[in-house]
Amino acid sequence: MIDLEFHGAAKTVTGSFHILHLPDGPIALDCGLFQGRRSIAREMNVSFPVPPEQLRAVLLSHAHLDHSGRIPQLFTQGFRGKIYATFATCDLCRVMLADSAHIQEEDARFWNEHRAAGPAERIEPLYTAQDVQMANEYFQGVPYNSPVTIAKGCTATFLEAGHILGSTCIMVEIAGNSTRLLYTGDLGRFMTPILRDPTNPMPEADYLITESTYANRTHADASTTKDQLVQVINETRALGGKVIIPAFSLGRTQLLVYCLSQAVAEGQLQPLPIYVDSPLSVNVTKVFTEHPECYDEQARDFWHARGNIFGRGLVTYITEVDQSKAINDKNEPCVIIASAGMCEAGRILHHLKNNVENDRNTVVIVGYMAQHTLGRRIVERNEKIKVFGREYDLLARVKTLNGFSAHADSGDFKRILGPLAKKLKGAFAVHGENSQLQAMKDLLTQAGCKNTRIPSQGEKISI
Ligand SMILES: [Zn+2]
Repeated sequence: MIDLEFHGAAKTVTGSFHILHLPDGPIALDCGLFQGRRSIAREMNVSFPVPPEQLRAVLLSHAHLDHSGRIPQLFTQGFRGKIYATFATCDLCRVMLADSAHIQEEDARFWNEHRAAGPAERIEPLYTAQDVQMANEYFQGVPYNSPVTIAKGCTATFLEAGHILGSTCIMVEIAGNSTRLLYTGDLGRFMTPILRDPTNPMPEADYLITESTYANRTHADASTTKDQLVQVINETRALGGKVIIPAFSLGRTQLLVYCLSQAVAEGQLQPLPIYVDSPLSVNVTKVFTEHPECYDEQARDFWHARGNIFGRGLVTYITEVDQSKAINDKNEPCVIIASAGMCEAGRILHHLKNNVENDRNTVVIVGYMAQHTLGRRIVERNEKIKVFGREYDLLARVKTLNGFSAHADSGDFKRILGPLAKKLKGAFAVHGENSQLQAMKDLLTQAGCKNTRIPSQGEKISI
């Protein structure tokens, strides 16, 4: 008998962390950060449900922080096992976790200086840059599609997930028990630019833990989204305006730059100044250039022809604040891609502040905007928006393109997981809000899985 324990991404979308209790000791599937309101997130992030020194290993599906962001903290609390992940994920984590440590340190400093009422309310950062350096030593790169022994009688095989560079679904096989458990991590889509398609068909499994983010939605086609993006840029240029695109530093930014580079190479878009304004994006993009083994065939052909698929000679990558401010002084049409993706922080705020009151400009939304974020208020075209505590009239045009999603939609789930459903002894829907989890349960039930459950936070189930 093997126990599965669900922590994080159980009836929610953030903080993925699941524990597989093997005879030799527990291993973790992902170790993600809870993101959300400070008070709640802090409480969820401070401790672990299993003493970290007891964990034997972590199997990491991909580098997004909601799957990887608590790894350094495991080490501060005594963990000394290996973190198994693809080579690209290992390299991306170095960059992402260093940035996360910086945010944790700044956040704690701000709290202690401005909010803490006294010494008792002072907080320590969840982890520091030094902790990240230590964690880096324990990352073990693994190739795709090759079983790796992670504990006695237990192997893990990392399969392409098509979600971001280096992303995987993980098949855990426990020989003594003859049990195969497939964990989807975050599942991507077919035909996503740069990335290979998700593994299809997936190998058969006895049990499935699946994400459910968009189990209740159908996305627009990614291939036509590029044309729409080019059209918006051309329209805005004709008006003499600027295109402002809030984008996450990992994944979406590289996808945008790649599409724009292709459009220019194909003569679909006349070159114009394109700025990527995010120090993190600069570092992440560098990792993308170092892992062409993860590209799909089209990106690889483009890479062979050009040597670089992320806009060398076309795109200006900005790290310094002065350079960032200097963009505001330019009056020519341009494209500005900046983080953060939901407009809650980062340099995008300065660009919004400087450009939303001009009706010649366009804000292009290419990602999910959670409720109560500035990004959501822009999508909903509020007449006024607040940036840095001041109100601005939202006069710029707003265009939403939802074809760039990195998550599978209901059609993708049916195509990939549907054929597995009949043979499953059990499935667990995680990483979704209630309606999405229910949609995943219905989808798997209709496909023939008789036992799909929606585990609660902390629930332990024997398989
Ligand atoms: Zn992800």
